[in-house]
Amino acid sequence: MKAKAFIKRARKFAEPFRVTNGDKFRLKDVDPDDTLGLKSEDKPRAKEALAMGVEVLAGLQDTLYAQDKWAVLLIFQAMDAAGKDGAIKHVMSGINPQGCQVYSFKAPTSEDLDHDYLWRCIRSLPERGRIGIFNRSYYEETLVVRVHPDYLEQQKLPPELISKSIWEDRFRDICCFERYLAGNGVAICKFFLHISKKEQKARFLERLENPEKNWKFSSADMSERGFWDEYHEAYEDMIRHTAAKHAPWYVVPANNKWFTRVAVAAAVIDTLASLNLAYPKVGKDKLKELAAAKRALLAKKNRTV
Ligand code: ATP
Ligand code: MG
Repeated sequence: MKAKAFIKRARKFAEPFRVTNGDKFRLKDVDPDDTLGLKSEDKPRAKEALAMGVEVLAGLQDTLYAQDKWAVLLIFQAMDAAGKDGAIKHVMSGINPQGCQVYSFKAPTSEDLDHDYLWRCIRSLPERGRIGIFNRSYYEETLVVRVHPDYLEQQKLPPELISKSIWEDRFRDICCFERYLAGNGVAICKFFLHISKKEQKARFLERLENPEKNWKFSSADMSERGFWDEYHEAYEDMIRHTAAKHAPWYVVPANNKWFTRVAVAAAVIDTLASLNLAYPKVGKDKLKELAAAKRALLAKKNRTV
């Protein structure tokens, strides 16, 4: 299939998961098992589609880099073991490493806590021409920090600023920040990989039973699992408040890794394709310069080149 036709299909594929207005969004309306009717026997075809997607993405990224106007920010949020790392690894596998950067945001350091909460993320934003990936992000400030209020106390904020409306205030800050980024040529695309509690249990057990996956397990994962409902409420509220046309959330069913990766690839392709990317056009003077260089290179007698 030609790249243009593939992009068209990718856009259609990603559409059902896109939230651009959160008013009516309910997390319970999204089934983590959903595969848009694809069955496990379609897995090989999905893998082929992913391979093609990776190729198309590499082409789009090359143009993004050459054009050097837009930056792309991909944000990944999810409960533990939902497959953020795997999705990033597979979808970005064909990308030129020079044009891509990944940051994983963990618990803030003391230096981070000496600044406002966006500070560490702002420092890590992608340059024009690049794709930046945030593996977790400033959205944790409305998730883990909301679920564990003692984290907020450690943030050294003046006490009078910790009001009842703090989460609403943070949503407003984030919306303004993303509006600002979009207005400055940063295309934003946000993913929530939606896994079920049952599937998380199965993946934790796999991490415990498979020696090669033991390293992925941390006891904190178990304690956070105990706050499942609180996290889900926080995620829902976050998506409701921060979904926007210029910064959509893709709520991607994540119980089947093969499906998640195709859906994420489709959404990233859609994001890049909507930027109308093109290789820079060379002006008359430059064309003359190129023609002169070519003539010089082809002139047999010219020993200097
Ligand atoms: P994996 O899926 O492989 O476990 P991960 O993204 O969960 O990857 P971890 O090192 O396990 O990586 O966890 C990072 C932890 O850092 C998460 O529990 C997250 O909630 C926490 N974290 C991120 N940002 C903040 C923040 N601003 N305040 C407090 N904790 C944060
Ligand atoms: Mg973790």
